[in-house]
Amino acid sequence: MNADALTARAWCELDGAALAHNFAVLRAALPAGCKLLPAVKANAYGHGAVPTARRLRRLGAAGFCVACAAEGAALRKAGVAGEILVLGYTAPADLPLLRRWRLTQAVVSGPYAAALAACGRRLRVHVAVDTGMHRLGLPVDDLEGVLKVFSYKTLAVTGIYTHLCTDDTLAAVDRAFAERQLAAFDGLCRALAVRGQTVPPRHVQASTGILRHPGLQYEAARPGIALYGVLSGAEATARWGKALQPVLSLRCRVAAVHTLAAGEGAGYGLAYRAAAPAVLAVLTVGYADGVPRALGGGAGTVLLHGRRAPIVGRVCMDQLFADVTGIPGVCPGDAATLIGRDGAEALTACEVAAAAGTISNELLSRLGPRLARFWREDAL
Ligand SMILES: *Cc1c(COP(=O)(O)O)cnc(C)c1O
Repeated sequence: MNADALTARAWCELDGAALAHNFAVLRAALPAGCKLLPAVKANAYGHGAVPTARRLRRLGAAGFCVACAAEGAALRKAGVAGEILVLGYTAPADLPLLRRWRLTQAVVSGPYAAALAACGRRLRVHVAVDTGMHRLGLPVDDLEGVLKVFSYKTLAVTGIYTHLCTDDTLAAVDRAFAERQLAAFDGLCRALAVRGQTVPPRHVQASTGILRHPGLQYEAARPGIALYGVLSGAEATARWGKALQPVLSLRCRVAAVHTLAAGEGAGYGLAYRAAAPAVLAVLTVGYADGVPRALGGGAGTVLLHGRRAPIVGRVCMDQLFADVTGIPGVCPGDAATLIGRDGAEALTACEVAAAAGTISNELLSRLGPRLARFWREDAL
């Protein structure tokens, strides 16, 4: 462990070997030669965008997906090479930013393509195709509209893609919808070829798409959450999670320990009340660090000395309370675990997210900039 973790207030421990393992698992589920464009948006789902992207490049990532131009620019400023695809909307007026940092922009609609093309400067784009999610992309049945994107002299189309939106569950109806999305996308690509349009590299699968449809023969894929060793919800985790290794652990420290008499309260609103004599540990992490406030009142758990302790009272901005009654010897300075393993016990991101009423993606991507981040295997 990095020596800084000995003094940090609250920190993420990141396991480079786990990242490499997950990358290999996803690569093995894809056809030979399929390019991986990992999603490193939202600070690489809280893992730290630049160090994560550098590691993924060394592992063989062809490029990256980000949410916005600023995220792409930050990677370039740090020297990250490879194609960087901006998945979200960028104002056409920001086209110089895209060009300056050699970013590839997703074409989110027909009029958007026209607006980008009208800027008169050459730009790399991927055509997003809406096959039923109705988020971004040209409608899959708009063959003429898609052909028009290819026709603009200033737009270099280096990819075409769609996004599956029901891939996280095992329900037959969701599976059938994903199959319809795939069929519609394939139909559009065939129609483009029939019209004499060379089809650029295609990509469809995000994490569960790769794990669920390993036979698909597209030229690239966009894994996010699975690279981090996690899946969104309990159902996907139970089905595919075992092959993956979590990359991130979240830890903090005991700042103080209080012994309360029966009837005494603690924290804002005295929302915690000791029913019997109790021992509370004050921990050095709070909702401003990304620990959901919903984990208070006994909903969430931390690990201390390898044992589970409930999060009690109201989670504060920078601190929270754990009930350590029955865990002997808890002292200021001890490390507590909010996500990850401590001895024989472990808290998975999926479990913590469920306790807070959300999914692992939200929990991880909200882990804030105030957390220190240490990679366990720092050899470059
Ligand atoms: C975020 C995102 C991904 C990655 O999704 P995961 O489920 O985290 O693998 C892929 N494609 C698009 C369009 C996305 O927005």
